[in-house]
Amino acid sequence: MHSPLFSVAQNRDLRLRDPMALEMKKECEKCGRVLLADGEAYICSYECTFCKACTEEMNSVCPNCGGELVRRPRRKR
Ligand SMILES: [Zn+2]
Ligand SMILES: [Zn+2]
Repeated sequence: MHSPLFSVAQNRDLRLRDPMALEMKKECEKCGRVLLADGEAYICSYECTFCKACTEEMNSVCPNCGGELVRRPRRKR
């Protein structure tokens, strides 16, 4: 049997976590450098995210999936 209190707590927990899941990644997956939302960052088609220095070092090839890393468009406004 589920306790009503327990399921309320779970729903609230999910709601708190959800907006985070929608945010863009903010760190380079290779060196962990923080990437600003309107700064320079590179992503592959699977949304692996890297900083410029690592992208250049890897010749724009994603080490996770082998895809091409492209400049992430800046968030508009
Ligand atoms: Zn990096
Ligand atoms: Zn990738």
